[in-house]
Amino acid sequence: MSTPTFDRRDLTGPFDLIGDVHGCADELEELLVLLGYDVEWAGGVVRVTALQGRMAVFVGDLVDRGPRTPDVLRIAMAMTEQGNALCVDGNHDNKFARWINGANVKTAHGLQASVDQMAAEDPAFHARVRKYLASLPPYLWLDDGKLVVAHAGLKEEMIGQMNGKIRSFALYGDTTGETDGFGNPVRRNWALAYSGDAAIVYGHVAAPEVQAVNNTWCIDTGCCFGGRLTALRWPEHELVSVPARQAWFTGSRPLAERTR
Ligand code: MN
Repeated sequence: MSTPTFDRRDLTGPFDLIGDVHGCADELEELLVLLGYDVEWAGGVVRVTALQGRMAVFVGDLVDRGPRTPDVLRIAMAMTEQGNALCVDGNHDNKFARWINGANVKTAHGLQASVDQMAAEDPAFHARVRKYLASLPPYLWLDDGKLVVAHAGLKEEMIGQMNGKIRSFALYGDTTGETDGFGNPVRRNWALAYSGDAAIVYGHVAAPEVQAVNNTWCIDTGCCFGGRLTALRWPEHELVSVPARQAWFTGSRPLAERTR
């Protein structure tokens, strides 16, 4: 299978980069409206209009944990079809894709919620989701090369390149192969050593606040854990966020302890 196009330096924005949504459609709709999009549902069909001509870019992990994964997918797919959103592949999207394609995967870490919600959806929707998830690139290179969006980040020397190792880094980060006391993979913080000219915007590691280090921005503020859903406006570097309606997922490390 060929890798979906990641080189979109031709797209110059302005962009609204959106952190890990994880099935939190209520918060996503509220955030999109705050950012200047009109979100309109008619029956089961959503139409999202970019009133200010901007484009949303999701950092991945659209699915799992939250209460409305199918609706988050509907919003992302509709925006993509309407040409006002892009999304990179996240580790949860990737595992969900393996599940929806029939693989025998473990449903821990929030996939079970998606599986239960997808049971109410018809085969045509499943087919549409399969096709959409297969179209997600491992990372996106945007705005004349000045901006990289990758779910878990990217090293400077990987920018503009693609292979299995780079794809794995973009989805899972700099993992050591070990797990911590909560069963989560031990990760090195690659951002501390980053010195590239391109800004890297990513998610994956939830923390109560946006982590801005060395021209890298982690915008996963843990909405599904009861934190916030955050967008970074590009090129303005302005943060816009909405609070979670509730903590949708527990049983993992508390958000307050998720500092790095
Ligand atoms: Mn995530």
